[in-house]
Amino acid sequence: MARYIFITGGVVSSLGKGLASAALGALLQARGYSVRLRKLDPYLNVDPGTMSPFEHGEVFVTDDGAETDLDLGHYERFTGVAARNTDSVSSGRVYSTVLEKERRGDYLGKTIQVVPHVTNEIKDFLEVGDDEVDFMLCEIGGTVGDIEGLPFFEAIRQFGHQRPRGNCIYMHLTLLPYLAASGELKTKPTQHSVKELQSIGIAPDILVCRSEHNIPTKERDKLALFCNVRPDSVIAAYDLKSIYEAPLAYHKEGLDQAVLDAFGIAPAPKPDLAKWEDVADRVFNAEGVVNVAIVGKYIQLEDAYKSIKEALTHGGMANRVKVNVEWIDAEVFDKEDPAPHLEKFNAILVPGGFGERGTEGKIKAATFARTRKVPYLGICLGMQMAVIEAARNLTDLADAGSEEFDHEAGEKRFTPVVYHLKEWVEGNRTVQRAVADDKGGTMRLGAYNATLGEQSKVAEIYGTTSISERHRHRYEVDIQYREKLEKAGLSFSGMSPDGKLPEIVEYADHPWFIGVQYHPELKSKPFAPHPLFRDFVKAAVENSRLV
Ligand code: GLN
Repeated sequence: MARYIFITGGVVSSLGKGLASAALGALLQARGYSVRLRKLDPYLNVDPGTMSPFEHGEVFVTDDGAETDLDLGHYERFTGVAARNTDSVSSGRVYSTVLEKERRGDYLGKTIQVVPHVTNEIKDFLEVGDDEVDFMLCEIGGTVGDIEGLPFFEAIRQFGHQRPRGNCIYMHLTLLPYLAASGELKTKPTQHSVKELQSIGIAPDILVCRSEHNIPTKERDKLALFCNVRPDSVIAAYDLKSIYEAPLAYHKEGLDQAVLDAFGIAPAPKPDLAKWEDVADRVFNAEGVVNVAIVGKYIQLEDAYKSIKEALTHGGMANRVKVNVEWIDAEVFDKEDPAPHLEKFNAILVPGGFGERGTEGKIKAATFARTRKVPYLGICLGMQMAVIEAARNLTDLADAGSEEFDHEAGEKRFTPVVYHLKEWVEGNRTVQRAVADDKGGTMRLGAYNATLGEQSKVAEIYGTTSISERHRHRYEVDIQYREKLEKAGLSFSGMSPDGKLPEIVEYADHPWFIGVQYHPELKSKPFAPHPLFRDFVKAAVENSRLV
C-alpha cells in the first residue's frame, strides 16, 4: 500500500505546486523510494487536448496516449517515471464517467450526487496503482476555496480518513507577500488559506511558503502556531534561478525530512543527491552560449512550448553550454524577409502547431535554414513544413501544402503532400478516423515505434535503428511523394515499422537538418537529455564556431 501525499495550494495560483511536487518526488527517489505523481484538475474539459495552448499551455502526451496537463511534464522530467493516462484527471473526466455509469444503469436507480458518487469516482482514481509504489503524490489544481475544486478536496479528506492512520499527509503551498513599506512578510493570507482548508476538514501537515525574502524565525513560529503545523514543517520556497535547483533547494530547507517525519519514518534513509548536484553544476557552470530561434505561433505564452524549452536546456547541459532561446512569431515572415531576423541564431527550431496561421512563415524559416546550412529541427508541424518547403522549392510541386489548411479554409488550394491520416496500425489493431470525427482524443496519440535507416544521421544520433517516441498529430506526410523528395535530397530516414508513415526526414548534404513527426521533447530529462536535442545543440555549438 502506497503512502499518499496530497499537495494543495492557497492564496494565489501559479505558485509552483507542480514544481514543488516534482522536486519532492525526486527527493523521495533520492532516498531510495519509488514514487508516482498525479494531477487532479478541477476544470470541466475532459482533458486539456482540446484547449488552446494560449489557454492552458502545452498539452503533455503520455506513452499510453493521454493528453494531459503540462505539470505531468515536470513530474517526468524530475522523476523519470513515465506518466500514464491514470495520472491525470479533470472534473470533466470524472463527471463524464459518472454520467456514463448513470446512463448504463450502474447505480441501480439511486439519485446521483456529488457526494458520494463524484467523490467516490475521484477516490477510485486516486487508488489506481496503489500497490506499485512507496509514495503517491497527488496535486490538486487551482487554489483552496475555488468552487469547482470542492469535490476534490472532499475526496482527499475522505481518502485520508478511510486509510490507516498515518497513511496520508497534506502539504499546502502558499505565498508570504512582502510589504516594502513596512519591510514585513505577511503571514495573514496563509493563515486564512489554512483556515479555509481546515473548514473543509483538512489539516495540513506541511506548509510550503513561497517568499521573495528570507523568512525570519519569528514568522515561521507564528505560522507554525497559528496554522497548527510543526515549526520544522514550515518550509521556505525562495525564488530560484533555475527550476533544476528545486530538489537541492527544497532539500536544504528540509522538505523531504519534514515529509518523512510527518509519516513517522525514522530513521530516515540518507539521500543520494549526486544526480541533482551534477544537474545543478551543468546548469550553473556552462562554458559557452548558443542562440536558438523558436519560430512558432503560440509565442505569447512560453508555457505553450514548455517541454521544448526544457529539452533545449537539457541539450545545453549535455554540451555544457547555455541555450538562449528567442521566440519569433512566424507570422512576421508573412511580410518580412526572415534573413535579418534569423541570421544571428546558431540554430532554428520549428515546433508543433495547429492551423494555417503562421505556416508560410515557418516554411520560409525552413528555406532559410536549408539554404544557409543552419541547423534545423522541425517537430511535428515543423517537420511537415520542412517537407512542404522541399516539395515547393526542390521539386515541381509549387503548390504543395497540407490538407489541414484546406480543411480549415473549406476549399482545395494545395497539392496535399501532407494529408489527413485516416488509418494506422496500433499494436495489433487498425485505427480508423474520418474528417468529421470529434476533435477530442482522436489524433494519433502516444508512443509508436519507428524504424530508422541504417546509414541515416538519426540512427547515428540515437545509436540504434529502432526507437519509440510520442506522437500527437492528425495529418501525415504522404509517402507517395517519397521518391520525388528523396531525389531532391530529402531522405525519409525514419518510417513506421509497416513502412507506411514517414516519421523522420533529413538532408544528407546539410550539417544538421532533421524533421520528426513525433515529439522528442516529451521524453527529455535533465539527467538524460534526449539524443536529438543533445545533438541539435551540439550542431548549434559547431555552427557558432563558424560565425
Ligand atoms: N497540425 C498538425 C497535425 O495534426 C501537426 C500537429 C502537431 O504539431 N502536434 O498533424
